[in-house]
Amino acid sequence: MGKRQSLEEPCQAKEQGSQLQWKNKQGSSEGDGGTTSLMRKGFENLHEVKRLCHWGPMIALSVIAICSTVAVLDSIIWYWPLDTTGGSVNFIMLINWTVLILYNYFNAMFVGPGYIPLGWKPENSQDSVYLQFCRVCQGYKSPRSHHCRKCNRCVMKMDHHCPWINNCCGHLNHAYFTSFLLLAPLGCVHAAFIFTMTMYTQLYDRISFGWSSVKIDMSALKRTHSPIMPFSVPAFAATLFALGLALGTTIAVGMLFCIQMKVIVRNKTSIEAWIEEKARDRIQYYQTGEEFIFPYDLGSRWENFKQVFTWSGVPEGDGVEWPVHEKCHQHTLTIEQLKQKADKRVRSIQYRVVEDYNGACCPISKGLRTFLRTPCTEEPRISLTRGEVLFATRGTKWWMYGDKVLSEEQAKAGDRMRGWFPRKCVEKCLYDTANNSTSEEKKEN
Ligand SMILES: [Zn+2]
Ligand SMILES: [Zn+2]
Repeated sequence: MGKRQSLEEPCQAKEQGSQLQWKNKQGSSEGDGGTTSLMRKGFENLHEVKRLCHWGPMIALSVIAICSTVAVLDSIIWYWPLDTTGGSVNFIMLINWTVLILYNYFNAMFVGPGYIPLGWKPENSQDSVYLQFCRVCQGYKSPRSHHCRKCNRCVMKMDHHCPWINNCCGHLNHAYFTSFLLLAPLGCVHAAFIFTMTMYTQLYDRISFGWSSVKIDMSALKRTHSPIMPFSVPAFAATLFALGLALGTTIAVGMLFCIQMKVIVRNKTSIEAWIEEKARDRIQYYQTGEEFIFPYDLGSRWENFKQVFTWSGVPEGDGVEWPVHEKCHQHTLTIEQLKQKADKRVRSIQYRVVEDYNGACCPISKGLRTFLRTPCTEEPRISLTRGEVLFATRGTKWWMYGDKVLSEEQAKAGDRMRGWFPRKCVEKCLYDTANNSTSEEKKEN
């Protein structure tokens, strides 16, 4: 009965707006007495605050704090004083960016992606044959959910675990997360404009260009109006530093925004894109003539967009059941996942190491693109030695994630070498050669 309730719970809460976010965080804690649930609430809040104690949120919040503080100070002291209309509007805009950015950032972090209740079972028990079982959560994985090892829970429509919010990006916080990714670069562009203009106007009167030299006289006063404080060297240094941060953030976060928009308008998470790639691979290999249709793409970008962005801030759906393509059903993707899992045992998609790799996060010797596109995760990198064999489970264009094939002794001891490595360092073993080589080795033995 308890499990039934937990499935229905999000559906009921849907109409109640923000309550949904709270209830989902509670997982399956329903059915407790008043006091215990209150105590639990307290503890969960404490647990949520702990999310801040991590390098990701600390760096992100520091960047936000530095950029907005310096932008506000630069504006009101030197560049655009508050006693002008433009200055007031500029000030309100700057505060507005900061508030909006923090609002979306904290919502992405604290609302969280939505977790599948522990011990979850499909409403119709016969459907469980189409689903994978999560041993950690002791329940079935509902469609589109995946287990996150960092959150230690099965996450609704999981896209990835983001260290910057120290939480997963998934069903409930997808809109907040993406809004943050849009607002942060916009705010940074505004701030960068203020920084540049402050430095320009403050230094303009002090710079004198000679034939072969540039002189900056920091003691010279600005002619037009005298600010409350002179633009000193520390102020100049702080502004220049903040400009660097703002430009860096604009580029890096702007790129992440483009990636997330692609995910949203296709209604296909990065994990699902990988499953689809493997589905194509599997069908092509077996020549089954199946046609794999990705079930969650509703056919129009706008429809897909509206699934995530709603006026209430709560995305469409309960995070368990999803609208699907007319030729598909609720379990099209989970059945494909099960087929791939079974297929994994039958044929081995192995990769052989062709180039050594030392396990560095941003290896310089593996090319610029590998260096720049290093996966933004805390997951480990594994060092590679030529000749080793790996079993890749997912990847990006430049990086792959997988298990090293270990010796029998190591495998028996329960060792596992799992992590990221540059795609450049490995080569796909053809299925035949992979099988042949193992059979050859066996013959030799
Ligand atoms: Zn799980
Ligand atoms: Zn996570």
